[in-house]
This record gives sequence, structure tokens and C-alpha cells, in this order.
Amino acid sequence: MRPYILAETNWNILKEFRFDMAILPWGATEAHNYHLPYATDNIQADCMTAEIAKQVWEKGGKPIVLPTIPFGVNTGQSDIYLDINLNPSTQLAILTDIVEVLNRQGVYKLLIFNGHGGNNFKPLVRELGLKFPKMFISFCFFPQVLNKDKYFEEQGDHADEMETSLMLYLRSDLVLPKEKWGSGASKKHKIKAFTEGWAWSERKWSEISVDTGVGNPSKASKEKGELFFNDVTKKIGDFVLEVCHADIEDLYE
Ligand SMILES: [Zn+2]
Repeated sequence: MRPYILAETNWNILKEFRFDMAILPWGATEAHNYHLPYATDNIQADCMTAEIAKQVWEKGGKPIVLPTIPFGVNTGQSDIYLDINLNPSTQLAILTDIVEVLNRQGVYKLLIFNGHGGNNFKPLVRELGLKFPKMFISFCFFPQVLNKDKYFEEQGDHADEMETSLMLYLRSDLVLPKEKWGSGASKKHKIKAFTEGWAWSERKWSEISVDTGVGNPSKASKEKGELFFNDVTKKIGDFVLEVCHADIEDLYE
């Protein structure tokens, strides 16, 4: 029983215990190339938040990891079989109810740990901040925490070398053999502003990728996954410990 995982702890402990902050992992249920499971984002978020909370706990912080929300925004993948879309407005409704509980019970710090690129929490956090002024709500998206180029040879953003390496490390039993891996080849937008990144429109996923992957996974390895996992959880762990100890009435210098 890990005392920092809400799904594993119990009322015997929680009747008296009080935490510094809550961590809400948020993933997605979607195809990940041919070879990775639909729950890839959830598994990564589960494993990372558990490791982060463990490290923080051992250093005297008191975070509690809430159960992972298993569905995310998949508006661009409506024709990919059983990609389960949660609309942004539904995400706001779920988050509002969770924040209402935390606010009522005096857990004023919340970190949303995002494991899926389609989830965009910034506008939701802005709106919740107005509604719950006592709450300190933040989010992070783990693939952006470190420079991926230092860990992986091929760039990508979905079922790529990074995600395949992480899954080889975390749940190799759920990764198909290498001969089944798709190339992760994807089409670029014809209009330059979108490829340059300063204009945005939703990508129609089934038109840009045959195997649903974006990014070549072929150079993935368990060792790369382990190194990235250790470094990313260490860096986010240091941040979470800081948030645990932070005075939210006195955040600026
Ligand atoms: Zn993913």
C-alpha cells in the first residue's frame, strides 16, 4: 500500500491525515501506431506520477495522486476506431467537480499531470482560477519537460521513439514485436504557417498517418525509456516538492 496513491490508501489513515497537494494524472484512450496499447498515455501517467510522489514523499513532501482520468481530447481522431473523445467542455466539467471537492476540503494545491498532447488545460485552469480563488492550480505536460533530442534520435509526437521506449521500459508485455511496428510516417500541412507552428488547426489524424503514429519508433529501446523516465520524474519531482512546501500567499520575488 503506497500512502501517496489515493486508490490504494484507506480511511483508517485518511481520517486524520492531511496532504500538501493533489496530483491529477490525465491521459487518453487512443490508438498508438500498431504496436502500443490504447492506454499508453494512461500507463505512462500512472507510472510517472507514482514515481514522482514516491520521491517527494521520501523527501518530506505530502502529495496525493488521484486516480488517472483515462479519456482525453481526441477531436481530431473521430474516425479512428474506439479512440474515446472527451470534449474540452466535458473536461472542464470534470475538473470543476474535482476542484470543488479539493477546495471545500482545504487541499488548495493541484497539479494536473498531462500525458496526452490533445489535452489543453490552460484555458480551463484560467477559468477555474477565477471560480476558485483560494486554489493554486497548475499543470505540466511531461514530453515538454526535457529536451527530447538528448534522449531520442527521431523526432515525433505520437507513438514515437520516446513513447515506444517508455513502454518497452514500463510495460514491455503490452508492446508488439518489432516487425509489427509501423513507420510512424506523417504528412505535413501544405500551408507553411501551420508547419512553422505559428498558426494552428486541428490535424485530421487519419489523413496524416496510415498507422496512427507520428514519429519513427524504430530506434526505441528499453534503456532509452528508462533513462528518460528517471530524468523526467526526477525533474518533475523536484518541482512537486517545491509546490508542496510553497506558500501560495507568497509566490513571487
Ligand atoms: Zn501517447
